[in-house]
Amino acid sequence: MAEYEDLSAYRDGYSPFEMINVGWLGVSRGIPVSGAPLVDRLVERLAQEVKMPRSVTLGSHDCEFCTEEDGQGGNGEIHIYSTSHSVVFCAPLLILHYVRHHGYTPPASFLEALDSIDDSLQWDSRAETLMAILADPMGHAGWRANALYDLPRWYGDERAYRAVVASVDDEQIREIDEYELGMSLSRFWIKAGTIDAAVYRRLSPATQSIIKQSVF
Ligand SMILES: [Zn+2]
Repeated sequence: MAEYEDLSAYRDGYSPFEMINVGWLGVSRGIPVSGAPLVDRLVERLAQEVKMPRSVTLGSHDCEFCTEEDGQGGNGEIHIYSTSHSVVFCAPLLILHYVRHHGYTPPASFLEALDSIDDSLQWDSRAETLMAILADPMGHAGWRANALYDLPRWYGDERAYRAVVASVDDEQIREIDEYELGMSLSRFWIKAGTIDAAVYRRLSPATQSIIKQSVF
């Protein structure tokens, strides 16, 4: 699979803002291991994130450190938004496997962003960009789905929720991004402690059932 140095600039595909590589490991660079293993809380957060893969079209990657019989593959990335530097970290889904089975220690700045993932971000240019992509029916299809996953990171700001609700009647979102829409609304409603019944009623049965599994 593609192998990049931790904290190098992401150049692998289209991105509307700067992203930083983390965890794109391979045999030529080896596995960065430093200090104590990750605390359970951070491993659990990584496990939650890999349920929301981005850019799944880029092809499958296999772990180069496992033998073929117990080999692990993964298709897609996760995007972790930093609180302080307006940076987005991009890691392969396999990062969870590298942490659990190969003792990989991601960079401290990545772990800091992961640790604050339950706190709402302050509105910033990344949120503006995601909101604009989601609102544009001609916008990049993959990044419209990413915007659904990521706008809940700004759950404390009403603009993020309004942007997602405004996409509920968008034809492409209804047809292609049922799962992402369901996950997005679920994340807002879990934070709010209640579901928005008027919005819920407008959703497709498939999206409603994703929300039922996540929220109820
Ligand atoms: Zn492995």
